[in-house]
Amino acid sequence: MSTELTYLDNNATTAPLPAVVEAMHEALAEAWGNPSSLHGAGERARQIVDAARETMAELIGARSSEIVFTSGATESINTALKGAIAAAREETPRILITAVEHEAVIEVAQELEARGVSVETLPVDAEGALDLEALDRALETPTTIVSLMLANNETGVIFPVDEVVRRAHAKGAAVHVDAVQCVGKRPISVEELGVDFLSLSAHKFHGPKGIGILYVRRGARYRPLVTGASHEGGRRGGTENVACIAGMAAAARHMMQGISERRAHLSKLGQRLEKGLLAIERTRLNGPAEGRMPGTVNVSFEGIEGSAIVLTAAREGICLSAGSACSAAEFGGSHVLEAMKTPFSYLYGAVRFSCCETTTEAEVDRAIEVVGRAVAYLREMNPSGRSAEA
Ligand code: PLP
Repeated sequence: MSTELTYLDNNATTAPLPAVVEAMHEALAEAWGNPSSLHGAGERARQIVDAARETMAELIGARSSEIVFTSGATESINTALKGAIAAAREETPRILITAVEHEAVIEVAQELEARGVSVETLPVDAEGALDLEALDRALETPTTIVSLMLANNETGVIFPVDEVVRRAHAKGAAVHVDAVQCVGKRPISVEELGVDFLSLSAHKFHGPKGIGILYVRRGARYRPLVTGASHEGGRRGGTENVACIAGMAAAARHMMQGISERRAHLSKLGQRLEKGLLAIERTRLNGPAEGRMPGTVNVSFEGIEGSAIVLTAAREGICLSAGSACSAAEFGGSHVLEAMKTPFSYLYGAVRFSCCETTTEAEVDRAIEVVGRAVAYLREMNPSGRSAEA
């Protein structure tokens, strides 16, 4: 990371590890063949792709034959949901999602709804926890697939995926999990979770952008989204992106190691952030004190715009995000905080801080100090944002 920047936006993307850059460079320079070719150049590329498939399978406790390389989580999600619907047995195919899913899930569900698929959105409570009774009621209607996150990208709130899978499978519904924010921060086992589909994006765990995986449980009903030649066992057409696949595997190998130490480090940073930020007056934590992904802290500052804080802090080299990076360019409140019924005066003032294993306490302290000043300045500039007592 460049010395002038304090990067606390790791849920948006992460810096590639040196080992990732090296693996990609080597693959581009020396394994540029087409992995489908039968000659030596193809063989070199194929070896990299095969080894990476084993690594990605090991990362999530799957068989290598269950790993499909994609261009990232958005494509994986599109494939899982549209593919499961295309193969649905129900007279009216049906999807359940939660109100706090990433746009990649919400938009796909909306697109499918416009094509006649039944879509139901499950609510969360004020702390972002899933309403399991609402899930049970929704599952009374025959359902093709349930899609939910393992951890929320804006708040870090964790969903009880294994419990959802138990209830969904009992009613014959498949389950897709968006585990994008979890690699290296907790062990991921598709067996323990029991899911049918799982999506990951390499750039969220120090790998390159534009590459990810879709885990498809053996025997899961779905149709490929990207068709073409018989790459990926006929499950995703297109010549494999060998260099990015090599980079993703290098990142996965790193992230599989030292998970408990990484968690402990992230928890400590998260607690430090929470303590420092909540000491700023009229500030609230979005999400519960416990039960969140370590290292993600989302706070709202009453009466000011989160994006104004992000822009003010950016002038001093602090990289943060108001809500999720994907919706940062849009004006308006976060759909996640809206679903959590965040009070109106706090709805637009959310700022997300997300750490990684190389984040230091000094960086966290600097961010707290800069944000504290930004908040005081913005409240001063916008008297209507001041509290009634001020
Ligand atoms: N799901 C979650 C939870 C995310 O945070 C993101 C990225 O922000 C995605 C899906 C989409 O990932 P990508 O943009 O790499 O396809």
